[in-house]
Amino acid sequence: MNINTATFIASSPNIDKCPATDLPEFAFIGRSNVGKSSLINMLAGRKNLAKVSGTPGKTRLINHFLINDSWFIVDLPGIGFAKISRCEQIRLKLMTEGYLMRRKNLMIIFLLLDSRHEPQEIDLEFIDWMIRYKLRFGLIFTKTDKLSKTELAAKPLLYKKTMLSAFGIEPEIILTSATKHTGREEILDVIENYLPQ
Ligand code: GDP
Repeated sequence: MNINTATFIASSPNIDKCPATDLPEFAFIGRSNVGKSSLINMLAGRKNLAKVSGTPGKTRLINHFLINDSWFIVDLPGIGFAKISRCEQIRLKLMTEGYLMRRKNLMIIFLLLDSRHEPQEIDLEFIDWMIRYKLRFGLIFTKTDKLSKTELAAKPLLYKKTMLSAFGIEPEIILTSATKHTGREEILDVIENYLPQ
């Protein structure tokens, strides 16, 4: 799929303030610093569409980016939020969960995982939550340029093994690197499958 236009539309504090639209939406979420902004910029083919933040956990709103005038990338606040108050953590959790559970035109949630790390409790909890609410999701490994060849083969297998024993499923994992510009077509192919022909 070619990306011809990518436009920032809105930052919303909750689902009720999100743009009124029926166009298909594709949500991206992950722990702070996972590489979400870099991945969104790579997908959109724009350098500065999503901010690549120096401060982890800066994004605290639901950000809509209109692509090709026909679908949205939705940049959600991170999960985990280590550096903010408990009260703000709860607000963000409710905001994110509200959007994910109630947004009718949401097609799939992409959960970003730093490919260098072992499966993290917080990500597994979030996966468990998505499964319980029967939400469709895909897994994306980020920063795979930082892995050796051996690790690149081993890490997805380890993750799948963990998923199999925890949830009884073995999902596909898309391997990406914003630095090396890899994995872009694979994600866009998944998205294209949900778009009207
Ligand atoms: P966010 O907080 O999840 O939006 O993450 P950012 O996109 O701001 O990236 C966090 C840090 O990881 C930045 O220093 C990026 O330059 C770096 N980074 C992001 N993607 C990649 C990647 O694919 N490879 C490498 N080596 N670094 C990356």
